[in-house]
Amino acid sequence: MTGKTHASCGLLVGALTIEYFHTDLFTSITVITLAVISSLLPDICHPQSKIGRRFKLISFFIRMIFGHRTFTHSLLFIAIIVCLLYVIQTSSYYLVTIILGLLSHVILDMLTPRGVKLFYPIPINVKFLVVFKTGGLVDISLASALTIGAIYVIFQPFFNNLFLNWL
Ligand SMILES: [Zn+2]
Repeated sequence: MTGKTHASCGLLVGALTIEYFHTDLFTSITVITLAVISSLLPDICHPQSKIGRRFKLISFFIRMIFGHRTFTHSLLFIAIIVCLLYVIQTSSYYLVTIILGLLSHVILDMLTPRGVKLFYPIPINVKFLVVFKTGGLVDISLASALTIGAIYVIFQPFFNNLFLNWL
C-alpha cells in the first residue's frame, strides 16, 4: 500500500481513538499525529518510503540488518514498542493509538501480493486471500474512503448539529 493509504488509515485510527477517549483539543492533536506517524513507521525499513526518506540513516541500517517488510512488519516489533511505551508509562490513549496505528499498517500490507513476515524471525509470508496491487485503483479508493471516514468521525458532532438544525 502507498504511504497515503497508510497515513489515511492512521488518521482514521487517531479519529476513532479521540472519539473513544473524549480527549481535550491538545491531546487529540497529539493522538492523531502519533497515529499517523505509527501508521507509517513500519516502512522505516524502506529508504524510499515517506518515513524512510526522513530518517535515511536509521532506514538504511534497518534494511541492511533485517531487509524490507520483515522485522518492522512483525508482531515482535509491535510487542517491543508496546513494552517500551509501557515502561515509560505512556497514557492509555497514546498507547492505544500507537498500537492501532502500527497494526493498521501491517494489516494493510497483508492486503498486498507480497504480504508481511508477521511472525518474524519465522520466515513465513502472511497475506489475505484477496490482495491488491500497491498504487492500484483499490489502493487509491481505500485512501480516499479512509480519509472521508476519518473526517466524518472528527467532525461528527458538528455534522450532527447541522443535521438537527435542518430538521
Ligand atoms: Zn509496509
